[in-house]
Amino acid sequence: MFTYIDPTVRQRLINQGKLIRIDADGGLTDPRSPPEPGARAISILGPIPLPLERHGRQYRANWYAAVRHTELNKATELADELRDREGQKSFAILADSMAVNSVLVFGDPASWENPLVRVHSSCLTGDVFGSGRCECGPQFIAALERIDADPAGGMIIYMSGHEGRGIGLWAKAATYVLQDAGEDTYQANRSLRLPDDSRDFSDAASLIKFFLGGRPFRLLTNNPKKVKDLTAMGVVNVTRVKHVCGVGDANRRYLAAKRDWGHQLDDEDID
Ligand SMILES: [Zn+2]
Repeated sequence: MFTYIDPTVRQRLINQGKLIRIDADGGLTDPRSPPEPGARAISILGPIPLPLERHGRQYRANWYAAVRHTELNKATELADELRDREGQKSFAILADSMAVNSVLVFGDPASWENPLVRVHSSCLTGDVFGSGRCECGPQFIAALERIDADPAGGMIIYMSGHEGRGIGLWAKAATYVLQDAGEDTYQANRSLRLPDDSRDFSDAASLIKFFLGGRPFRLLTNNPKKVKDLTAMGVVNVTRVKHVCGVGDANRRYLAAKRDWGHQLDDEDID
């Protein structure tokens, strides 16, 4: 992932209001001055109109890319150093696994009334390849359809660093091998001495606060822990809305494990 932006272009984007910065509480801060040491800040680039088409249906959304300022700063400093020393080619070194999260906005946030929000964890195998081992792909499409069709509008926050509930794609591949040898999705994480769920929702919380400013919203999720985590980070006025879809033979056992772990899924949802 390449996250460096040339300083003159950066300045132009700031002047146009296309590059903004928010603090952990979702409040706007000045992107020209560095954030307080140790304070969490998120740079947001957008809106970028994105015509979407999935399964023959078309959607119009505005895309915002969001990245933690601390990580962005590290990349910028390294870029300055490399430019001084070795020139353009070394910029490839900057390609790293830094998470750039996305927000897809449907409708005008200023006029939203109790909008639908989906905080979606990235899943390459499910979202892109269409794997049936999890229900991520259908959940993403269903979120698009539901939010687009809802008169209240809403947004999808796509968390790109959440692959495999936070353990990354490589470890997730290992858990699949373990699952095929009989372990369930959580046991496999434990066998690898990894947490059941290591996803960090703090950036999602800041983005919700920024776009909603404390107004009520409906969160599309079967996972009460997601609501608990967001609430613990100061997100208010959230109502959970069930989001069951994509159930099939390939993922029934996976969904049963999620239910036993605490997801609000009923037997008839899985059968
Ligand atoms: Zn998945």
